Amino acid sequence: MSEGAAKKEERHKFQAIRGTRDLLPPETALWNHVEQTANEVFATFGFGAIRVPIFEPTELFARSIGLDTDVVSKEMYTFEDYEATELVELRTAAVTNVASLATGEALRDFLDRVGNFILAAEKAFEAGGIPKTPENERTLQMARELIADLQTFRYQGEREILPRVAELKDAVRQVRFGDVISLRPEATASVCRAYIEHGMRQLPQPVKLYYIGPMFRRERPQKGRYRQFYQIGAEVLGGSDAPAIDAEVIEMVMTFFDRLELHGVQLDINSIGCRECRPKYVELLRAELLKVKDKLGPDSQRRIRTNPLRVLDSKLESEQGTIATLPRITDHLCEACATHYSAVKRQLEMRGVFFRENWRLVRGLDYYMRTTFEITAQGLGSQNAVCGGGRYDGLVELLGGPPTKGIGFAIGEDRLVLSLQESGKAPAQPGRDVYIAWMGERAHATAIRAAKDLRKAGFSVELPPVEQKFGKALGQADKLGAKHALILGDNEVSEGLWTLKTLADGAQLKLPEPALIEHLRKSKAVSS
Ligand code: ATP
Ligand code: MG
Repeated sequence: MSEGAAKKEERHKFQAIRGTRDLLPPETALWNHVEQTANEVFATFGFGAIRVPIFEPTELFARSIGLDTDVVSKEMYTFEDYEATELVELRTAAVTNVASLATGEALRDFLDRVGNFILAAEKAFEAGGIPKTPENERTLQMARELIADLQTFRYQGEREILPRVAELKDAVRQVRFGDVISLRPEATASVCRAYIEHGMRQLPQPVKLYYIGPMFRRERPQKGRYRQFYQIGAEVLGGSDAPAIDAEVIEMVMTFFDRLELHGVQLDINSIGCRECRPKYVELLRAELLKVKDKLGPDSQRRIRTNPLRVLDSKLESEQGTIATLPRITDHLCEACATHYSAVKRQLEMRGVFFRENWRLVRGLDYYMRTTFEITAQGLGSQNAVCGGGRYDGLVELLGGPPTKGIGFAIGEDRLVLSLQESGKAPAQPGRDVYIAWMGERAHATAIRAAKDLRKAGFSVELPPVEQKFGKALGQADKLGAKHALILGDNEVSEGLWTLKTLADGAQLKLPEPALIEHLRKSKAVSS
């Protein structure tokens, strides 16, 4: 590389990774407002904040969300977490730079290197330095056998040995050095894990928790769909599965959206039954789907086998007519589920929460049962779901805990903010209350003291770090959207009378220092 090219490379501009983005002022003021409102509203319902890790063992998500979901099968950011040890070097030495195995000696040399690695890996396996999983045990065993096999091989040329060498290299690459972990695609599984891990069932039940934070899914980025996005979610764990709990959780989200003045909010609810009635319905649905298979596209055809409920989720125009004729789960709920569902609806009515029943609402994650709901809002195009939730009574048990009732929701904060912006919710102006235009050494000292006092009184203050001519300072104050300029020159300081200029109308006022804060308070009260 030439020196010029190298320099250019160095100056290469970095950009945020596809599907991620920077949130900047003034927009972040709206994000803060949304989160602040969530904190306030959720607290009035008795929810406490929980913060869970950004990454967890992949297995936690696989087991809870389900293997046949898009999230787990193709959207997770997964990696192996290990310390770079001698093993890593040994593996690199074993599998790279094998230019040719054209002689028996080259093969022996290769086998030596692989043998060294396997020996070290076996030791680490015994000592717990690499995961003691059945997969690792099997892989090591297989590598051992392949080495033995190749060692007794009478060398007759590359062609016969290459397939076995390739197999051996594969085995070597498959040895896991550390745990497989994933960036969280959602947080419900983590909250349930935390509930179990911290013995929260000893607390008064139910335990009510909420979280705010980033989630990661490798989806195709588009408006309202990102690879790093933010969720605000809540979970109610333990206690009973009383319909009033379902209704109160939904009421809480609706109260939150109401407080934010979110436009065009539409709540859809459904019941997807339980372990008793759902399997029977799924079989019925599958049988009916098989009858109309030819009218469905390839995705839905595949789902008839893997996950028939998901067919109901289809947005394909050509399938809508066919789907409308399918049996509806609400007609096939067991008695307990039917009773629960109608009680939830009655409870929502008692709370003045408007809803629409949507028999096709099945939700994408495996762990849901009985109540499911989704909330859409205005101005979001086809990504219009701002909240999804439902009951998941079996989840804690599935993760190794005691049988525990559970219900929760997750709000897409990005979409929520987008919808608020589309409906003209301007973020709070970050403009300053006071810009201090000072000139001279003595004035600087006074300006520093004034800034401290004003900030302590809660005003937003801009104190320029270097002296400016008054004209320039006032221009700067204007650009920053300051409401007032406090003018401090030598005269003002020695007289003890400060000049306060209101930038909107140019009005000027002379004030003694002690009267300043009171005056600003009054003018703030008038303007807000
Ligand atoms: P969708 O059908 O829109 O993909 P989902 O069913 O995958 O949503 P959930 O897993 O239920 O969504 O997550 C709850 C909420 O999180 C969604 O309603 C949505 O507002 C938001 N959300 C999900 N995935 C993304 C994403 N990639 N980018 C932005 N927001 C998202
Ligand atoms: Mg999705």
